[in-house]
Amino acid sequence: MNCTFCGKQAVYVRPYDKIALCKQHFNEQVKKRVQKTLTRYKMLKRSDRIAIGVSGGKDSIALLHILNKIEEDFPESELVAITIDEGIEDYREEGLFFARKHVEELKLEHHIFSFKNDFGYNLDEILKILGDRGKEREFGACSYCGILRRKILNKATKDIGADVLVTAHNLEDEVETILLNIIRGDIQRLARLDPHPRKIHESLVPRVKPFRATPQAEIVLYCVLNDLEYQEIPCPYSAEAYRGDVREFVFKTQEKQPMLSFNILRGQDKLLEIMKTTQLKGTLKNCENCGEATSGKICKACWVKTQLENY
Ligand code: SF4
Ligand code: ZN
Repeated sequence: MNCTFCGKQAVYVRPYDKIALCKQHFNEQVKKRVQKTLTRYKMLKRSDRIAIGVSGGKDSIALLHILNKIEEDFPESELVAITIDEGIEDYREEGLFFARKHVEELKLEHHIFSFKNDFGYNLDEILKILGDRGKEREFGACSYCGILRRKILNKATKDIGADVLVTAHNLEDEVETILLNIIRGDIQRLARLDPHPRKIHESLVPRVKPFRATPQAEIVLYCVLNDLEYQEIPCPYSAEAYRGDVREFVFKTQEKQPMLSFNILRGQDKLLEIMKTTQLKGTLKNCENCGEATSGKICKACWVKTQLENY
């Protein structure tokens, strides 16, 4: 098959529109989609100090390189990297290695934060303590991990003086989150999945996802074609993820319906238009313990801490 744009040997045919792409045009298209997403939702401002979360996995490594390229045209803004060390034995070290390698290669600032330093316990310890006390853990490992990572990433972004936090969630990640919120009936959270950078609480930094319209398969191929090494082994706790079932549904259905994820994403955007009138500010309060945003009395991270301390 030949490239739809230039006739050279194609390396990839997009399943959703049958466009064939050579390496050069594939790279261009991936970058263009990120640029389009950034512009469409006004994700970044020209003078922003932009913090990007880099775990060392394929998504964050690819986005780091693409954003760095895009940033070359915007000398007033600045890209800096944040990595969170959750403290997962035989796993996080390798991710840190790849994160450091790429950030150094691009000569960017790199700030590493850890669960242990910021929260007092690393993830392995949290799960061990909750498990050891003979009670069933209330949530899977990823829930505790996600609660703490979100909180620490938010704080880290403020600590390093960045204006906005970029995460590398891809199309299928975003679609899974949409579906999970629908499955749980959590409309508030669905409404908070606004792709625009919004400050929904004074303690929360705006977060954006420039890869939200980029399929995972294209991110993997981008890394392969451009020799970007990344951490491939999965997290030892990933099997516990409740997301797993929804994930499987998305990827399986997508094989037969290549537009599935794009359709769900577009549906979410339309729904947000309709829900625009919903007043989101004010639905979040300040945690009575730490002052950060929460929908309850205390935030989830503080709740985890009380679980660890008050059994
Ligand atoms: Fe954390 Fe779950 Fe991801 Fe592992 S798979 S790093 S436990 S969110
Ligand atoms: Zn081409």
